[in-house]
Amino acid sequence: MTLTFTPPTARAVPEWIGANADTPVPPRVRVRVFDRKHGRCHICERSIRAGEKWTLEHLIALINWRATTEQPHGNRESNLTVTCDWCLPEKNAADVAQKSKAYATRAVIVFVASERRIRFDLPLPTGDSDKDEKAKRQKWRALLLCIKAKLEGVESKIETFEEAFLAHVVLPDGLTMLQHAKPAIEQAYKSGDMPPLLPGPKK
Ligand SMILES: [Zn+2]
Repeated sequence: MTLTFTPPTARAVPEWIGANADTPVPPRVRVRVFDRKHGRCHICERSIRAGEKWTLEHLIALINWRATTEQPHGNRESNLTVTCDWCLPEKNAADVAQKSKAYATRAVIVFVASERRIRFDLPLPTGDSDKDEKAKRQKWRALLLCIKAKLEGVESKIETFEEAFLAHVVLPDGLTMLQHAKPAIEQAYKSGDMPPLLPGPKK
């Protein structure tokens, strides 16, 4: 049996590991992760443009990390990745879906109507005290009332289904119309130019 030993190169930089799960990631590590990911969002694989907002995220969310003695938390460089601003709500929703229902912190409603997939996804108050639970139930009630009111508006021909729900229409890439349009609209207001509202297909 041959054992191969790879000596660490002089340029090898030790992995950054947070003192604990809440330790902020130092800027140099932030830059390192961005370079390692070639400046691309790990969800939509878009190259992040200069000046565009992005977030350093834990690939395995800290809430879902399986702690071991050697790796008690996931706040470490190898578990860090780059998420663009458009994809952030998706990542958060997926992490929360993975989390047990008892700790649910988002209200997510998905339904299909008028041949469109519609998604409402909003944060719920956190915590599990009686007061928090009451606030969560209140939020759910308000969400259902809001959807009901929109449907009533459509029924009464105040607006069309498309007008009432456009922002919440889910597109083939899993993002909502709002998530696609919001950065483009912000850009249009800043520059005065008309950008395409939806990006073209990936090459
Ligand atoms: Zn993205």
